[in-house]
Amino acid sequence: MAGRKICSYCGKKLEGKSCYGSGDGKEEELYCSSECRDKHRTALESVRKNMKWFAAGIIVSVLLVLSSAFLGAGEKESGKLTAGCGMLLLGLTVVLFPYCTPETYAMFGYVKTNRLGRVIGVLVAIFGLWMLFEG
Ligand SMILES: [Zn+2]
Repeated sequence: MAGRKICSYCGKKLEGKSCYGSGDGKEEELYCSSECRDKHRTALESVRKNMKWFAAGIIVSVLLVLSSAFLGAGEKESGKLTAGCGMLLLGLTVVLFPYCTPETYAMFGYVKTNRLGRVIGVLVAIFGLWMLFEG
């Protein structure tokens, strides 16, 4: 699918205007300006740096939610508490590090995908809080 061309950073449509490749080796990224290219490079740098925290947050929250399923079989209250904490942590992790799949970045660009990730993270965190206090 090579039909849709957007700026890899800001998601602006590229209509045959000058684009700048990243020169990163593999697939060539397209940008509307060299400014976007530089910003994207800086952003990807911090993504790489924070990836371990992102992974740790996801793993811990998934483990919490999973263990709540086992706890929930015996004790409803602690199961709900664990699941609520897990959802809250998952939401906060995504808000702090809204990393999405490469497909999503390719479709919307970096900036819009981050915004989308943050919105989802906030919703998940609110759901976690609701589980904690509404039980
Ligand atoms: Zn751009």
